[in-house]
Amino acid sequence: MNLAPVTRFCAFLALACSFASAHGADALVDVERAIVPVASWGGTPSDEAKARRHRISHITLHHQGEPFKPGTDPQAYLRRLQSWSRAEKGWLDIPYHYVIDLDGRIYGARDIAYAGDTNTEYDPKGHALIEVVGNFEEVEPNQQQLDAVVSLMAMLAAKHQVSLDDIQSHRDYSDKTVCPGENLYRYVKDDYFRHKVALRLAQVQAGK
Ligand SMILES: [Zn+2]
Repeated sequence: MNLAPVTRFCAFLALACSFASAHGADALVDVERAIVPVASWGGTPSDEAKARRHRISHITLHHQGEPFKPGTDPQAYLRRLQSWSRAEKGWLDIPYHYVIDLDGRIYGARDIAYAGDTNTEYDPKGHALIEVVGNFEEVEPNQQQLDAVVSLMAMLAAKHQVSLDDIQSHRDYSDKTVCPGENLYRYVKDDYFRHKVALRLAQVQAGK
């Protein structure tokens, strides 16, 4: 895991980072540090030679689109998703860079340095892709999931200098999908995520 960019971001905020703990910049470093790496859930690295490299300029939210029953092992789900993505779809890897489970834990999936994949017509190059497990046409996201989305979006926005306007969801780029599902899309449409991310970034600036 590469913490260097967030650390560099902290370097801009020398005053803020001079405080020992519990301020925004540390919190963002902690978000990145807590991401479960691919090797920990039993995934394998993707073939770098086939990867399309990109620079992150957008953050785009997705849902699984299928029910994720409580008690389902998220690590087994990730292993199945990686196998299916490669064997059935012929993709490099899981199409998303991060997956958030029912407990709000964040897992690394596709390497963020590589552009994602999609079944729809938009080009995900430049997009950091976040998948939340579940089908939000049918269920509501829980608070841990919402909090994890905010934390991850804030970390990514700070690290890659993504504008709040470029925090969107799949259906904002494609007419062919309801992803991330009505009950999660509401938080995109109503600026919940953008507002919470702005607050988090302001805390970093203020060194709180
Ligand atoms: Zn999607």
